[in-house]
Amino acid sequence: MTGEVSSIPRSDQLQEFVRRYAYGGVLVGALLVLWWGYTGPIALEKVAIGLQITAIFVILGLEIWIPYTKSWGDIRNVTRADVIYFLLAAPIDQLQIILLVGLLAQTAPYHHFVQVFDIWPNDAHILVQLFLVTMIVDFFKYWYHRWTHEVPLLWRIHSIHHSLDRLEMLRASYFFPLDIFITVGAGTLAMLMFGVHYELIIFHNVFAGITGLLNHSNADLRCGWWDRILNSIGHHRAHHSVGLPGSSSNYGSFFNFTDRLFGTRYLPEDQSSFDPLGLDDTYEMPQTFLKQLAVPFRWGRIHKTP
Ligand SMILES: [Zn+2]
Ligand SMILES: [Zn+2]
Repeated sequence: MTGEVSSIPRSDQLQEFVRRYAYGGVLVGALLVLWWGYTGPIALEKVAIGLQITAIFVILGLEIWIPYTKSWGDIRNVTRADVIYFLLAAPIDQLQIILLVGLLAQTAPYHHFVQVFDIWPNDAHILVQLFLVTMIVDFFKYWYHRWTHEVPLLWRIHSIHHSLDRLEMLRASYFFPLDIFITVGAGTLAMLMFGVHYELIIFHNVFAGITGLLNHSNADLRCGWWDRILNSIGHHRAHHSVGLPGSSSNYGSFFNFTDRLFGTRYLPEDQSSFDPLGLDDTYEMPQTFLKQLAVPFRWGRIHKTP
C-alpha cells in the first residue's frame, strides 16, 4: 500500500495541495496585499488594481489547471455577452464610487443626511474595522439580494444573473447593469451611513470583488473549514442551482452569518456537483447582451407562468 501512495505523481500531489489550500491562500493573500496597500508607501488604488489583475490571472489559471466541472468551461468558452458584462463591471463600480462617495459624501457638509450614525471606531485596528464593515455590508447586501429573488419586479433584472447554466470566473459580473450597481452601491451607502472613511470603502469593495470572482469560478477549490463561516464557493454554486432549497438560499456576500440568522443558509454534504444550474424551463432567456437589456420590459415573453 505504501508503494501505491508513494507512486502518486508529483503533479497530482501538487494539484491536491492547491485544491485544498488555494481558496484560503487567495483570500488571505489578497487581504495581506490590501492591508499593505492601506499602510504602505504606494497608493491603495494602485495596489488594488495590481491585485485585481493578478487575482484574475491566478483564478483563470486554476480554472484551466484544475477545473471543477469540465463542461462549464473556462476563458476558452467565453461568449460575447460574458466579455461585455465583465468589462462593464469596472466602469459601473467607478460610477457608484463617483456618485456615492464623490458627490454625496463630499457634499455632506451641506446636507448631512448621508451619515446616520456617528459611532465609527476610526482608531481601531484596520482589520477590526474591515471585519465590522463586512458584517454591516453583508446585512445590507443580503436583504437587497433576497428582495431581488422575492420581489417580482426586482427578479426581472436579477433573473439575468441566474440564467447562467454554467459558472466560470469571467461570469462573476454577469448582471443586469442596474442590478450590479445597486448591489455594490447598497454596500457603499451602508458604509457611508456609518461614517466609514474612503480608503476602508476601497479596501472592502476590492476584497469583496475578489471573493465574487472566486465564488463564480470553475476551479476545483475545496473550502473546508471556511465553509463554516463564509458564504464560500459551494454556497454560491448551490444558490445558482435549479430548484429548492439551493435557489432560495445563501443570499449573503462574504460571511454566512446573516443567512444563518434568517434561516437561509444551505450547503449540501456532497459538493461534487450542483448541476443543473440556471432557470427552470418556464423561462426563455435571450443570450445576447442587448436582448437581455430589454428583458425587464418584455417579461411576458421571457417567463411563461404555467
Ligand atoms: Zn441570486
Ligand atoms: Zn452568482
